[in-house]
Amino acid sequence: MTPAEFREFGKQVVDWIADYYEWVESRPVLPDLAPGDIRASLPDDLPELGEPFEHILGDVDRLIEPGLTHWQSPRFMAYFPSNTSFPSILGEMLAAGMGQQGMVWKTSPVATELETHVMDWLVTLLGLPEHFKGNGVIQDTASSATLCALLAARERITGGTGNREGVPSNLVAYTSDQAHSSIQKAARIAGIGDERMRLIPTDDQFRMDTRALASAIRADLEGGLTPFFICATVGTTSSMAVDNVRDIAHVVRREAAEIWVHVDAAMAGTAAVCPEYRWIHDGVEDADSYCFNPHKWMFTNFDCNAFWVRDRKQLVDALSILPEYLRTAEHLSGAAIDYRDWQIPLGRRFRALKLWFVLRHYGAAGLRHHIAEHVRLAESFEAKVEAHQDFELVIPRSLNLVCFAHRHGDAFSEALMEAVNATGQLYLSHTRLDERYTIRCSIGGRDQEQRHIDAAWNLIVQQAVQIQRSDSRSDA
Ligand code: PLP
Repeated sequence: MTPAEFREFGKQVVDWIADYYEWVESRPVLPDLAPGDIRASLPDDLPELGEPFEHILGDVDRLIEPGLTHWQSPRFMAYFPSNTSFPSILGEMLAAGMGQQGMVWKTSPVATELETHVMDWLVTLLGLPEHFKGNGVIQDTASSATLCALLAARERITGGTGNREGVPSNLVAYTSDQAHSSIQKAARIAGIGDERMRLIPTDDQFRMDTRALASAIRADLEGGLTPFFICATVGTTSSMAVDNVRDIAHVVRREAAEIWVHVDAAMAGTAAVCPEYRWIHDGVEDADSYCFNPHKWMFTNFDCNAFWVRDRKQLVDALSILPEYLRTAEHLSGAAIDYRDWQIPLGRRFRALKLWFVLRHYGAAGLRHHIAEHVRLAESFEAKVEAHQDFELVIPRSLNLVCFAHRHGDAFSEALMEAVNATGQLYLSHTRLDERYTIRCSIGGRDQEQRHIDAAWNLIVQQAVQIQRSDSRSDA
C-alpha cells in the first residue's frame, strides 16, 4: 500500500468509525449469534495472493460488524463502561502510525517521557498522593499491575531472593472475597497459590472486614507464616464496594509492617476526578501501590491501566534483567527511565499519546462534568428501582452502579435479565450478592443520557410484566 492509497483508505476507515458512532445506538446491543457462527462465515484458507483493500474493507461490513457486541452503544449497561472517545481513537491511530517501541528510553524518548508526564497529571487530577509523582507507569491492564505489585512485594519481603532463587513456601497474601479474580490469578502466577491467598470475608456492604483481616494476619504470624501482600479494592466488580484503605493500612502496620498494600481501583478510580468522590481514596497515601483503568471510565481506548508505586526501586529490582543488547548509556547513568523494567513484557506501546489526547481534549473540568453526570444518571435509575413495588435494591447504589432484583426471587430476576437482553435494546449483566441473583446496571457510557436511562427502566418493567403475564397464563 502506497502512502497515497493509505491516505485514501485511511479516510474511509475514519468515515467508517464516525458512521459507527452515528448508528450504533440504533442496532441491537448484542449480536444474535451462536458460538461458531462467525468462523463458519470466514473462508477456510488465507489468500495466496494479496487482495485489493476495497474487498477487505467491504468485508468489515459483511463479516466483522455483525459479530460486534456494541460496548460503545449508550444502551450498553452491562459489566463496566469500556469507553472510547474520538480523541482517544485518534491518539491510538497516531501511535500506531508512529510505530514506537518504547521498551527503553532510547528506543522512544517521547513515549517514555510523555508517559511519566501524563501519569503525573493523573496524580493531580485524582488528588492522589504527591509521592506517586515520577513513579507512575502505564500497564496494559489492572491484572498486570496487580501482578507487578505482587512481584515487587515478593522482592521486598525476601530481600531480592524470592524472585531469583524461588518462592519461599511461607509467604501469605490477602484480599477480600469480593476482590477481582485477577488478584487470585496474580497469586497463582507468582507461586503463592490459592492455599496461601486468603480471601477475607466482607461486611454487609461487601467491604473487607478489617477485624477478620487482623485475625487472619495474627493467625498466620502465629503459624510461622510471613504475610507479605494485601490488595484492597476501591470499587469491587460485583457491587462497587469501596474497601476502607485507611483501616486496612492501619491493621497492616499494627500487625505486620512488612505487608505491601496494593489498591485496585480499576473501575472506580476515575470517580476521584470529582472532589465529592475523592473519599474513595481515603488512606491511599498509606499504600505501597495503586492502580486504576482509564480504559474503563475515562474515555480512553482499551488498553490503558495507570499504576503507581511509592518506591520504584522494589518494582524495578523485581523485574529488571539487563542483557548486553539493552544496555544504554542513558540507563547506566541513571538519568532515564526504562519502562521495560516496570512491567512483565519487554515491548511497549505508546499508550501515553491517547491518554494525553483525552486529558487535553476534555480537560479536568470536562471529565468532572461527565463523571458527575454519570453518577447522577445512576441516582435517577436507583430512584426508579426504589419507587417500584416489584423491585428492590440489593444494596444501595455505589457511584455509577445500581444492583437490583425483582421481588419475585432469583429465577424471576434471571429470566427478566435474559428477556431484556434478548430484545437487543439493552444489555445488562448480573452477579450474586450473598447468594442472591443480582442484576447490575452499570452506567458510564460516553454518550449516555437521561433518555437512555428512562428507556432502560421502561423496558425492564415492561419485560417483567410480560413474564408475570405468561407465568400466570401457564399457572391457569
Ligand atoms: N479489578 C477490578 C476491580 C475490576 O473491576 C476489573 C475489571 O472488571 C479488573 C480488576 C480487571 O481489569 P483488567 O481487564 O484491566 O485486568
